Amino acid sequence: MTDQTTDNQNQTNSQPEKIFVAVAWPYASGPRHLGHVAGAYLPPDIFARYHRMKGNRVLMVSGSDMNGTPITVAAEKAGVSPNTWSQRVHRLNTDLWHRMGFTYDLFTDTTTPIHQKLVQDFFLRLLEKGYIFKDSTIAPYCLVDKRFLPDRYVEGICPHCGYNKARGDQCDNCGRPLDPIDLIDIHCGLCHSKPEFRESEHFFPICPNWRSLCSNGWARAKSSGVPTSWPSPPTGYARASRRVLTPAT
Ligand SMILES: [Zn+2]
Ligand SMILES: [Zn+2]
Repeated sequence: MTDQTTDNQNQTNSQPEKIFVAVAWPYASGPRHLGHVAGAYLPPDIFARYHRMKGNRVLMVSGSDMNGTPITVAAEKAGVSPNTWSQRVHRLNTDLWHRMGFTYDLFTDTTTPIHQKLVQDFFLRLLEKGYIFKDSTIAPYCLVDKRFLPDRYVEGICPHCGYNKARGDQCDNCGRPLDPIDLIDIHCGLCHSKPEFRESEHFFPICPNWRSLCSNGWARAKSSGVPTSWPSPPTGYARASRRVLTPAT
């Protein structure tokens, strides 16, 4: 009782804290389901409400991620442009949050000028400081569709479990991350023809201290009982990382 009274007095005397709640940005590839709500969107709303009740100043923000392969895949299936599709899903999800009573202070999307400026500035600063680098890697190219195929656009047999609908980024049957070149009997997800592999230019992140950061994080996770079994990174990224990291070590 005494402790509680002291806590209450401390809280009354102290200044309100500023609490920033940055909720994961939902992909505008399709409507969010109950699993998304339970796992990613409801917990931060409870957290924000708790701090508002305590008298703290809360800013809870998020928005729809309007770019990415899942959106172009869904748009092609629906026969509309990626922009039309993502705008449609953004409106749907915004309405969903409203009807569920979520208390976002701001829910926007990645097409706003301020977001684009921030992302470009962030990217250029990383590039200037040498935290990302340009390199080439091989990527599947469809001769019929005349385009490079993102990892999710290629399908084939998983080399680990034999599942015959594995995608170029991962196998949904065994959960392992994959690289398109690992797939057996690879074919284009759009036209089912066999793609060829061509050199393609990409940017890769590099953190000079990533090894110590990873091992420190690993040690902390292990001592706190957090599961520490992580899947291997896709081989394409691992190959490119090794090329850069090896001479520097
Ligand atoms: Zn598999
Ligand atoms: Zn194709």
